Amino acid sequence: MKKRSLLCLFIFIIYFSCQNTKQILNSNKSQTSIRFIRQATFILTINSKRLLVDPVLSKKGELEPIPFSNNNRNPQNELPISTDEIINSSDAILITHYHPDHFDIASEKLIPKDKKIFCQPYDLKMILSKGFTNVKSIDKETFWGDIKINRFEVHHHEGATGTPPFGESSSFSISNKNKSIFITGDAILDSYLKNALLNISPDFIVANTGECSFSQVNPVLSPGITMTLTKEELITIAKEHQNAVIIPMHMDAINHCSLSKESLKEHVKFQVKSIKSRFQIPFEGETIKL
Ligand SMILES: [Zn+2]
Repeated sequence: MKKRSLLCLFIFIIYFSCQNTKQILNSNKSQTSIRFIRQATFILTINSKRLLVDPVLSKKGELEPIPFSNNNRNPQNELPISTDEIINSSDAILITHYHPDHFDIASEKLIPKDKKIFCQPYDLKMILSKGFTNVKSIDKETFWGDIKINRFEVHHHEGATGTPPFGESSSFSISNKNKSIFITGDAILDSYLKNALLNISPDFIVANTGECSFSQVNPVLSPGITMTLTKEELITIAKEHQNAVIIPMHMDAINHCSLSKESLKEHVKFQVKSIKSRFQIPFEGETIKL
């Protein structure tokens, strides 16, 4: 009898904690926000909709290392919330580019095949081949209800041609009539990214950094060439966009990225107030109101 009562109490607690989680997620839908998950994965809440960006949902260490670097398995940290919570709370998904640190095998398995997915044209065929049925490739501009999504061609590294194995890379802007959120994707700060940022003049810039590069000689890209924004480039962007809040991501999770959140915070700390006050470097699971 005592055991049965304890079991009932346990089920009761689990049930109500689940209900509570749902309520928390639903109650904040009117507030525009970014909930950083891990790596480049985050949930943007805008116009009462939730967009899950670049889902990487594997457990810690479940993925092979990115080659031509160290042998550390990926991701290097755990998700701060469950995969169910991430997927079920999202109304659609944006895949900036089809690389394993932006859309992994766990996401491919766990995300329902009829979930709405936005992507760049280059990746449409690949995503459809995985069985997803509700995929919209964005050439330049599209609307998701009253939310505008713009896409810009950018370069993943110096000398990128858009051919395999890297393929094409894109930045996206998500905006409503009040705010614009620019997502750099994996891009370097060349004229393409600069022009895209000038075109939008965004209020918020989600910037993929980590200073990722290969350390070993390989047939793909010379060692030391960065494939994402450097900390110095983040400062340049902040200087060139005086009204934008910079939200850096793409750190601490993948083996070929060397810049950590802690190192970036140190670097930002020594900038002038007008720059450092506009950096918001989220920890895994943190929500930033926009
Ligand atoms: Zn990446």
